[in-house]
Amino acid sequence: MSGERVLIVDDSKEVLEILRFLILEPRGYRVLEATNGVDGLRLALTERPDLLILDEQMPGMNGLDVIRALQEQNAQIPTILMTAFGSEELVVRAFRMGVRDYVIKPFEPEEMLKAVERALAEIRLRAERDRLITQLEEANRRLQQQVQELNTLYSIGRSVTSRLDLETVLTRVVEAAVFLTRAEEGLLLLLDPESGDLVLRAAKNVDTKRAQEMRIRLQDTLAEQVLRSGEPLLIGEGQIKVVTGYLVYSLIYAPLRTPERGTFGILGVTHRTKARSFTTHDVRLLCALADYAAIALENARLYEETETARRKLEAVLRETDEAVIILDPQQRILLCNPAASAALRISSTDVVGRPAAQVISNRTLLDLFLNVARRKQSLYAEVLLAGGRTYNAHLTPVESVGYVLMMQDITHLKELDRVKSEFLATVSHDLRTPLTAIRGYVDLLEKVGPLNEQQREFVDRVRRSIAHIAALIGDLLELGRIEADYDLEMEPLHLESVIDAVVESFRPLLEEKKLTLYWEPKPLPLIRGNPRRLRQVMENLLSNAVKYNREGGWIAVSADQQDGYIIVRVADSGIGISPEDLPHIFERFYRGQGPEVEEIEGTGLGLAIVKSVIEKHGGRIWVESQPGKGSVFTFLLHTMEDNPPLFRPLNTAPGE
Ligand code: ADP
Repeated sequence: MSGERVLIVDDSKEVLEILRFLILEPRGYRVLEATNGVDGLRLALTERPDLLILDEQMPGMNGLDVIRALQEQNAQIPTILMTAFGSEELVVRAFRMGVRDYVIKPFEPEEMLKAVERALAEIRLRAERDRLITQLEEANRRLQQQVQELNTLYSIGRSVTSRLDLETVLTRVVEAAVFLTRAEEGLLLLLDPESGDLVLRAAKNVDTKRAQEMRIRLQDTLAEQVLRSGEPLLIGEGQIKVVTGYLVYSLIYAPLRTPERGTFGILGVTHRTKARSFTTHDVRLLCALADYAAIALENARLYEETETARRKLEAVLRETDEAVIILDPQQRILLCNPAASAALRISSTDVVGRPAAQVISNRTLLDLFLNVARRKQSLYAEVLLAGGRTYNAHLTPVESVGYVLMMQDITHLKELDRVKSEFLATVSHDLRTPLTAIRGYVDLLEKVGPLNEQQREFVDRVRRSIAHIAALIGDLLELGRIEADYDLEMEPLHLESVIDAVVESFRPLLEEKKLTLYWEPKPLPLIRGNPRRLRQVMENLLSNAVKYNREGGWIAVSADQQDGYIIVRVADSGIGISPEDLPHIFERFYRGQGPEVEEIEGTGLGLAIVKSVIEKHGGRIWVESQPGKGSVFTFLLHTMEDNPPLFRPLNTAPGE
């Protein structure tokens, strides 16, 4: 049942009735009637039926006249023409005028019904097509709107990540918010951490005077609600009081938030003068824009922080007396502070970006650069620069930066050290002469007359003390010489041979003390060293291992090769070293605190000498010990292939 309206225009009452009662109404069509052309035309124009069944032959205005008149009025109503037999020519004319179908009178009801249904089916199809087209157009319009929204969001997204200044980005965000939600005005408010108020940061369509005054107190406002909950707010109907004297019809407030800072502002759009409302889709759009604004603000804050830190660092580097050069991983200069440019006599600005090797001519530094890249560890060296000043240069690889070269002026320390060594050497030397005289006279004492038992004992004690002072002076002189690089010529040597010779010289003493010594020399790569000084190292270590051992104990000496080093260990089963003594035993004159140590003769200078010699060789020494069980002294020296003698690696002891 379609219920379409059909207008019949015919001067024959009979035909009208047949059509109405026999054909149309039984099928649910609603029927309008006219018995002449003029009435038919009027009804057609006023009622706009879905179908017109029109008799051709009528007195006065005939069927074709009605069709023409309708055409003139631009009223297109699908029409079936009823004609008499033999008027084919007229039918052709009628088709030209847009008539859908014709039926020849007299007609069978079936024939007319088919014509009506054909015409209406076509009309329905057309209507359906038109509806689909409208739907399609609507979908297309929405799609275009979405594309436009996406484009806007995309371009805002790009502004956030581009290098645009913050002001521009925020203004763009607010403009986009107004554009996309079709709002009247938009604003971006930020929380002022000091006052706790919301302050206007960017706006669109807000007049300047109001913008300048805008400062929202947080209490009891909608903004406060958003800040507290971190959720967007959509208010649609009625007039809402937002700020004193500021009324809106509808609004959206979207929170500006980051995981780190929480909610710190609001992006808002409003309708102030027009009674319009926003949709949840608008809320989504605004939230996306608010996220962009939050990212832009956070980026700006982080940039500001980094910039401040950078400026501080720059100021520190500028003011410090230490010479600092920062290099990238390819050893191009990234930064050269004034102290460095003064020390190296280079310009601190012109050198930036240039390879260090092109700018710096000092050989020690150049070798240091070369070696740090190879070894990937901190190195240091003493560097004598033009002007006669000595620097302690540390070159350290720094992850994700490259390298940092720091140079401390140690000229005055070197001078002090030299004066101290000279003083010690002089004093020690000057003490030796009177000491020799004392020993001579003590020896003479027995020869010039008999001594009683007690006198002999006293003389013995004096002799022992003299021996102790002589040993002390001897050690002090040695230390002075080592530190003054005296007698320190380096040559290629086999360390295992040096150790072997010292071990052999200790055999009688070991037998006397009933100590077992384990030592199996094996061939090792050459090192650069001073044989006399290295012998001294081994003698001191072994003599301690004997002195601080127990009867029937053992000593184990080993020398191995590992990663470009020779590692020498001297282990003993002796009294060990207490944790309190351990950090100090390489210091000058330091002796263990316990009564066990006090009983044993010593100057407290043996290990100071050992350490000094090892360090002069670019090596390192350390000790591990368990009181009551024994100690292990370990030192390492670079093999010759891996030994630029000037450099001393920092923190390199394996197993430390
Ligand atoms: P000295 O042996 O003349 O006292 P050193 O400088 O050689 O001086 O040693 C310093 C201190 O280190 C010693 O007094 C002793 O306490 C401790 N020490 C050194 N070697 C050993 C060792 N092998 N076993 C135990 N303690 C040791």
